[in-house]
Amino acid sequence: MKSIYSTISICITLPILLLSAFFVLSHVTMRQEYLLEYDTKAEVALRKFPYPYRAALSICSDIDNTETLEEFLAINTFLNTTEMTSMGRGVGLDIGNSFFFFAPRSEAISYFNSPPEVAECIRKYIKSEQIDTLHSYGEKEDFTRANAVSSIKELKDSDLKIDVWVDHTRTPDNFGDDVTFGTGDQPDTKTYHADLTVDYGIKFVWLGRITTITGQSVPITSRSFTGIYDPDHPIESVRNIVKEFGKHVLAVFGNDKYEMHRKNDLVKISTLDDGQKVYEFMRFDNFWRGVAEGGNSKNLAYTISKKTLEKLKGNGGFMVVYTHLGQRNNPPEYIPKETQAALRNLAEEFRRGDIYITTTSKLLNYCVNHRYLKWSYETKDGETIITIEKIDDPVSGSYIPSLQQLRGITFYVPDTETTRIFVNNGEVTKVKKNGPDFMGRKSVTIP
Ligand SMILES: [Zn+2]
Repeated sequence: MKSIYSTISICITLPILLLSAFFVLSHVTMRQEYLLEYDTKAEVALRKFPYPYRAALSICSDIDNTETLEEFLAINTFLNTTEMTSMGRGVGLDIGNSFFFFAPRSEAISYFNSPPEVAECIRKYIKSEQIDTLHSYGEKEDFTRANAVSSIKELKDSDLKIDVWVDHTRTPDNFGDDVTFGTGDQPDTKTYHADLTVDYGIKFVWLGRITTITGQSVPITSRSFTGIYDPDHPIESVRNIVKEFGKHVLAVFGNDKYEMHRKNDLVKISTLDDGQKVYEFMRFDNFWRGVAEGGNSKNLAYTISKKTLEKLKGNGGFMVVYTHLGQRNNPPEYIPKETQAALRNLAEEFRRGDIYITTTSKLLNYCVNHRYLKWSYETKDGETIITIEKIDDPVSGSYIPSLQQLRGITFYVPDTETTRIFVNNGEVTKVKKNGPDFMGRKSVTIP
């Protein structure tokens, strides 16, 4: 009896304590100057997303449990094409996948341990940007630096570019220190490879951080937490609110592990153990029974449900969704029915021009290029002249961007007919002129 009372009193007092801490400290956490909003009244302004979208999402799937090439091809054909598949017509979205260099054959396909046609397929998909993520070097307990050397040689020999790294469970080559524990970035270990891997081209890393808040790179408000509530699962979702809020409070008090949660940012600059700077990103999984169960193909239907997408559109956030498309608990189809339906709905959101769906690599690059874009404008002889000077990237240094690096960049302007865009003194000749968006504002886009 006594223990019931103490449980009840903890359940009541803990949320009250956390909430009061939040309100006291919220003025500290709300100052997020780097967040770009739609509320700008400036006549000429950088739009947060490519026209006409009001939010952006990528699905970031770890390759674990994708056991055969047939399964990989079935999943990706459904995601990336509009061909007829065993699950009906594909959804034709720009969704990426990941790969391992090493994995036991019983666990997943991999570059070195599967038959050669798998390596051939991985090369083909990296070239077409439909594989955009290296899911650590893989499942290899005796991993050493020599394995990273041979893996990078394969990538370079075939001129393959990958810039996203995702830590895998708890393999020794991971970079993470507090969730996914690895020594890949510790120079005094035989697993050290971060110098080679970053030098090769890895720019974005995921070190195990997952949020249940819908929409990143938007300010934290009380609705960020109350939005986690699911009336179909009241007890579990209240527990999830308390957990998420607890992370936020710990971060406000200086806990490094939850620093990303404090700002609710999609990307932040992190320092690896060897001192190298990289962009760390956060993934999203709001499954009511917890993150561990949410990360499979069946429960992806929940994490990208209509409800979640409505919230995402409402707050205008970025979101990288955590999943494992190969984990499906033996249903008859490669992608469970409910997830097929959720992906079809996602494709509708994209085609209606509401949510920008792209690969994780393209989403993260867009986010960073947008954030550090240095530009100005002037009005001269009735024309609006926009000048893009550089991308002032604090990790890789300042550079003049190529048109490809600027794809999707959109500016609100008063008159699309009299606007010209210049990059490094050269005029962008094929600027796309857009009519009013959902805010009623006209814009121009670099295609
Ligand atoms: Zn994994």
